[in-house]
Amino acid sequence: MTDRAGRWIFASGNTGKFSELEALLAPTGITLVARNEFGLESPEETGRTFLENALLKARHAAAATGLAAIADDSGLAVDALDGAPGVRSARFADGGGSRANIAKLLELMEDVSGPDRGARFCCVVVALVRWDDPMPLIGTGEWRGSIVREPRGTSGFGYDPVFFDPRLGATAAELKAEVKNRVSHRGQALAQIEKALRELTATG
Ligand code: IMP
Repeated sequence: MTDRAGRWIFASGNTGKFSELEALLAPTGITLVARNEFGLESPEETGRTFLENALLKARHAAAATGLAAIADDSGLAVDALDGAPGVRSARFADGGGSRANIAKLLELMEDVSGPDRGARFCCVVVALVRWDDPMPLIGTGEWRGSIVREPRGTSGFGYDPVFFDPRLGATAAELKAEVKNRVSHRGQALAQIEKALRELTATG
């Protein structure tokens, strides 16, 4: 369960995700602690689905720390690339980081014309009160948009500078954090489990 301070461990080393989750969880009263504070390494993400990987990460962090854990597994699925990079989004350019991932994506999509540049961000969030929790909370979210030809904007992380939301008329990296959290795949996934999380924290 949570420790006396009501802390949950966030099973990811991604600081961009951490800040988004922290803001999204504010209404639940949950205090998130980063995995790095415990010196935990990332487990190998061997799952074929976002769900499998999120569960794997949450279970690993809960088992190693004894704390309740929340994990997010997410990624970008591009229509013209048959859903790639998908669960491999973080490692798309083999460890080269976000800049290299974006460069690879834009190169692969060089000949893809406007109407075929559709994509979606996907997210599965898993919350476990302990490592062997038989009833994980699971939330899922999808954010549809398209891939622009040149990166734009400086907020957010990962593929945000090339992911364009047609309704907002901006890339994810041009949105204020509150706006992104309201519409994003992560915001939607968290919204699905927020009530259950509140109930959990209320009962301790
Ligand atoms: P993982 O969930 O740790 O495997 O990594 C997910 C990867 O997907 C991130 O490292 C980003 O490259 C990408 N991604 C997921 N969510 C977002 C987002 O909100 N904005 C930009 N990129 C994202």
